[in-house]
Amino acid sequence: MKAPSLRCVLLFAFCFALLLLPSSALAWGCKGHQTVALIAEKQLTAEARQFVEKLLAENPIDPQLKRYCGNATRDLLVDASTWPDDVRNDLKNGPWHYIDIPRGASRGPLEPFCGAGGCVTKVIADQLAILKDKNADPRLRANAIRYLVHFVGDLHMPLHASTNDDEGGNCTPAGYFRRHPRENHNSFTPNLHALWDTAILERDMEGADPSEYADFLVQLFSSDFGKWQGAGIHVDDWAWESHDLAESIVYGMLTPKIPIEPPARALLRRCKQYRRAHVATASSCGRVLSGSRRACHPGKACPSRDSSGHDPQRRCEALSRIELRFAR
Ligand SMILES: [Zn+2]
Repeated sequence: MKAPSLRCVLLFAFCFALLLLPSSALAWGCKGHQTVALIAEKQLTAEARQFVEKLLAENPIDPQLKRYCGNATRDLLVDASTWPDDVRNDLKNGPWHYIDIPRGASRGPLEPFCGAGGCVTKVIADQLAILKDKNADPRLRANAIRYLVHFVGDLHMPLHASTNDDEGGNCTPAGYFRRHPRENHNSFTPNLHALWDTAILERDMEGADPSEYADFLVQLFSSDFGKWQGAGIHVDDWAWESHDLAESIVYGMLTPKIPIEPPARALLRRCKQYRRAHVATASSCGRVLSGSRRACHPGKACPSRDSSGHDPQRRCEALSRIELRFAR
């Protein structure tokens, strides 16, 4: 689950998610991660299951840690699956949960999209290496299991491998059935990311608990498991598959359509060019764009969805208008 953003401010257009979704689509709040863990558990051999349970039991989660999804479950892998979201702020490893591949990117190496703080594909490889290392600290190996069961789930949520310069959908307000987006602490509820993390999944669960839903999915895809296991571990392919699904389903089925946004760096470059000619307006633009990388800024994805389009002058002016509204 991505952290809610600070200033998701889109003043001009609300987008309404189409209600269509494939039965294979999953999204990951508490119930999503717990379902992934239950499905994974069913695939373990008796020996592997024993190893996992022993390692997790002998290296437990800090009982003082506040657990967002509760800690009532006795299933240690299910409990493990939500732990990385509980420690992400303290460990400052939020970027481990996703990789921001921009919409429109072509398949290729993922390194350019993996920031200095890491990204989900790199962390899966790193944690797999720790888990395989019999000489590694058992506490690190237990945490590697917790990270892996969580991050492989995260990576399969399309908006954890794609962005439209909107923080993986966190900055895109989206309606869903009778729910309409409202501003909530400088963010929007619901937004596209949150819908895919929880609302769409829980609608598909039709009241089932994670255990019942895992049983349902295992049954539904029973003929595919052999093929998936035989394919082996290809983390980069999983990322691109997720990215492609974000394009075809998540963004592709929105009404109205959202244009592909240029990454912030390209926008910043254009705003700098504009600043030379229009100092007063562009100072606001620079203030917006030089902020925290992970904050949702008013000017990032949002203003171009009004009539300003991608024209840098009009876009920077739109940024200024939004800034002014917030200054009031
Ligand atoms: Zn996560």
